[in-house]
Amino acid sequence: MKPLGPIPAGFAARDGVLAVDGIKITELIAQAGATPAFVYSSGMIRARVAALRAAMPEALALHYAVKANPFAPLLRLMGTLVDGFDIASGGELGMAREAGLDPSLISFAGPGKRDIELQAAIMQGVTLNLESAAEARRALTIAEKLGKTPRLAIRVNPDFDLRGSGMKMGGGAKPFGIDTDKVPALAREIVAAGAEWRGFHIFAGSQSLDGAAIAETQGQVLDLAVQLAQQADVPLPHLNIGGGLGIPYFNGDSPLDLTPIGAALGERLSNRPDVLKDTQLAMEMGRFLTGEAGVYLTTILDRKESHGDIFLVTDGGLHHQLAASGNFGTVVRRNYPVAIATRFGAEPEEEASVVGCLCTPLDRLADKGHFPKADVGDVVAVFCAGAYGASASPSAFLGQGPAREILI
Ligand SMILES: *Cc1c(COP(=O)(O)O)cnc(C)c1O
Repeated sequence: MKPLGPIPAGFAARDGVLAVDGIKITELIAQAGATPAFVYSSGMIRARVAALRAAMPEALALHYAVKANPFAPLLRLMGTLVDGFDIASGGELGMAREAGLDPSLISFAGPGKRDIELQAAIMQGVTLNLESAAEARRALTIAEKLGKTPRLAIRVNPDFDLRGSGMKMGGGAKPFGIDTDKVPALAREIVAAGAEWRGFHIFAGSQSLDGAAIAETQGQVLDLAVQLAQQADVPLPHLNIGGGLGIPYFNGDSPLDLTPIGAALGERLSNRPDVLKDTQLAMEMGRFLTGEAGVYLTTILDRKESHGDIFLVTDGGLHHQLAASGNFGTVVRRNYPVAIATRFGAEPEEEASVVGCLCTPLDRLADKGHFPKADVGDVVAVFCAGAYGASASPSAFLGQGPAREILI
């Protein structure tokens, strides 16, 4: 028996069936048309943004990292809830614009931006978070040809990383951002070239459940930004301090307490040095805003026994839920929160593994979990599916195709 991850708050049983925002998943599947399907709750996303706003200093802007979940109706919802958007490709710029998001609220990070992507961003007034000096020069040249003033910020590669973070994005040699010693000269060059200078973007890590580490990193980010702005002798109109807020995926993980993080940041802001006095501060997040608000539903097609082990074979799999299968940046495979949605809340009776329909041993959604006895036709729910699910999984693999998605 291997433990399952903790089911996020807000999911309840109705007549023994999992309900999302009070609606039974059987009805939601009818609405989606079929399984496999992702269901995202706008109510849960709203509640998450509200909780974050309540805990963090009022002056802090909240940005959504589009890559976590670019589903068009969800992007439109985010457009009504947050203050800015972070994209990582020209494709995401297209999705953001299609969803009606204001380009002046969008910033574009990511190494390896093509000229046509830089051009589209500059034309539309999107801020570029520059990842190298060469990229800065390319952007300035393209802007000059277009007769546009580019909005430019520098993504800094900090010398520290977010302690306990699931994915380290700073510290040492990295393809992301510009090393701190090269930042002041480049900042001066950008300002001197007549660009609209937008300040710094400093992202030190992701998926941390350690509030003290997040608060400490935010302090280091503020100190670094001040130091770099002073060395460069440039103003700091905008500072993106990164994100890093994690969600509980695995047994033993606990949700973050936002209050001490907000209090520490508030304290730092009330004592901030003059360079930061007129700075618009922003935090960027993906999974923390949408991850727990999504559930992936897949129907059991077969129940089989092999050498005494029970396998529940579903119509979904890693082609929609790569992360839950343990193949998206995890070292040791652990079970996500998974439940038999059509027997939700029933006592567990047997050990079973939930597998997908792909012909590979990697396709396992739950390994030796303790479940109520489930049969063909029952529906399995994989939780924490609102971020890095549909768009971060190889849906074309084995000719399967994408899952349905609905926002309720
Ligand atoms: C991926 C990414 C994010 C979002 O990370 P989450 O863990 O989903 O919050 C934010 N900023 C940058 C620069 C990223 O690369």
